[in-house]
Amino acid sequence: MSDFDITSLIHHPYRAPAGFEAPQAGVHKASTVIFPNVAAMRSRDWRNRSGYTYGLHGTPTTFLLEERLAALEGGSHCVLVPSGLAAIALVDLALLSAGDEVLLPDNVYGPSRELARHELLRLGITHRFYDPMDAAGLAFMIGPATKLVWLEAAGSVTMEFPDLENLIAAAKARGVATALDNTWGAGIAFKPFGLGVDIVMQALTKFPSGGGDVLMGSVTTRDAALHERLKLAHMHLGLGVAGNDAELVLRSLPSIALRYAAHDASARALAAWLATRPEVARVLHPAFDSCPGHAHWKKLCGAAAGLFSVMLDARYSQAQVDAFVDALQLFSIGYSWGGPMSLAVPYDLKAMRGDKAYAGTLVRFSIGLESAAALQADLEQALKTLA
Ligand SMILES: *Cc1c(COP(=O)(O)O)cnc(C)c1O
Repeated sequence: MSDFDITSLIHHPYRAPAGFEAPQAGVHKASTVIFPNVAAMRSRDWRNRSGYTYGLHGTPTTFLLEERLAALEGGSHCVLVPSGLAAIALVDLALLSAGDEVLLPDNVYGPSRELARHELLRLGITHRFYDPMDAAGLAFMIGPATKLVWLEAAGSVTMEFPDLENLIAAAKARGVATALDNTWGAGIAFKPFGLGVDIVMQALTKFPSGGGDVLMGSVTTRDAALHERLKLAHMHLGLGVAGNDAELVLRSLPSIALRYAAHDASARALAAWLATRPEVARVLHPAFDSCPGHAHWKKLCGAAAGLFSVMLDARYSQAQVDAFVDALQLFSIGYSWGGPMSLAVPYDLKAMRGDKAYAGTLVRFSIGLESAAALQADLEQALKTLA
């Protein structure tokens, strides 16, 4: 190829006509954003959405997804990050400094606990764990160094639904910021900003994606100053997301409420059936009164995620419970949730939550979009391994 040909492949004069209108969002991908002149380059501010400066700071595709997620959560500003865990890390790093303390619920998402125990501690940021079922206890724990209280509803694995209203009130009364991990609620089950929470993060990896093929997170606020603090840290840390991934979430968002309802209906049917089984000691699903915090769930939510745990009877060993999970055919063994495929994971609660007494071994189920009858038949055949 001659030099001319190569150059024309990069600097081709053709421009497609403007005005292509379609319901689907375009996918914009770029590192470099081109400025019409130097004055424009100098005057653009990446902190607001008045223009574009660099691919990392936003494209039409990511701005659109941020706006739609802010609407879903009932907030007004949103930033996207490459995973749910990155969203948690962004909140921690934007709000906390050496000498500060963060309070975490004792059933917090495991990697959030590990982030506090390793990276935050190394930066001189300390943490303590509070009982999410005890708002008065939280009020008592808040001290002068406390700068952030994390909330999670429902709690990871053990599914307790916390007394969000009073936990948030306790933090607010002391002027401490609150951040909610809203991955379970997904913006569908309840509206957290109405409760006065300052920051809402979500693992878009779960229900907003719905396909099990994207890792992404969001951090949403209603407060412009708080958003700017988060956006600054986001820029300093370089936490951009890929245009193709943002497009996948944009494609899935319109069906999130339908999918959430379908996961919910199947999960409740299966949890109700499991509650009747002699092998099952307890069903931990916020919509069931056997679950701690059921009254809080009932007050705040109508819907629930397709996620629940069961405590198998204490007479079964961990090895027997593992064999039950191995015998499942339609349920795959794996982490995460919110995708089309049902998943099961056995958890050793003593190792995770040594401080809390739970008799028996726990299995967490994420109910996918398969037929509930087929899933029940699969559970029934696998339970036979416990006989
Ligand atoms: C999955 C999950 C996260 C983290 O999301 P990733 O995208 O997997 O990093 C955070 N919080 C909760 C409650 C989750 O379930």
